[in-house]
Amino acid sequence: MCLICAELTKNKLSSVEARRNLGEVHSTLKKDHIFEILKLIWQKEDEEYETMWDNENMWDTGSD
Ligand SMILES: [Zn+2]
Repeated sequence: MCLICAELTKNKLSSVEARRNLGEVHSTLKKDHIFEILKLIWQKEDEEYETMWDNENMWDTGSD
């Protein structure tokens, strides 16, 4: 595990920030580990997408 994984699992990085960090350090990482980080980023993007929908649904509440 590297700093990016650690911060992603602690929710200290957004998916965008994690991608930026990965771009800076990927040359120092093994390919296998880059894929592990990408999987975490994809999970994060799913979470952010769901959160976005939760917020939209919140706005919809009471519109009926
Ligand atoms: Zn890592």
